[in-house]
Amino acid sequence: MTYTAPWQRLCDCRCPLHYRQTRITYHESDCACAITCATQPMTLLAEQWRCALFLDQDGDLWYVTAMPGGNWDWPNAAELNTRYNLDDSSVRIERLLRQAAHELGNAIH
Ligand SMILES: [Zn+2]
Ligand SMILES: [Zn+2]
Repeated sequence: MTYTAPWQRLCDCRCPLHYRQTRITYHESDCACAITCATQPMTLLAEQWRCALFLDQDGDLWYVTAMPGGNWDWPNAAELNTRYNLDDSSVRIERLLRQAAHELGNAIH
């Protein structure tokens, strides 16, 4: 199985902005990508808290809020900057996500 990074893939979710395009930033105002879009990096879905967390291609942690109807609030998605925001849990989650991606990569290849 060949691995193609999500930011090298083309959108397959009928988003009016990205359909059949790559997507490398996650806070564009017209984006309506699904959380299962091919361009979406490995994502921690936490619908209990109405949000999802994922790492971008630079390994930075992003946060997006769930909206009613299965949509996501991409225009207001934000990078949780762990360098300036000294919230321990975001540092830990970032580390855990990176570790999960690494383990998964090893297991699948
Ligand atoms: Zn989109
Ligand atoms: Zn998409």
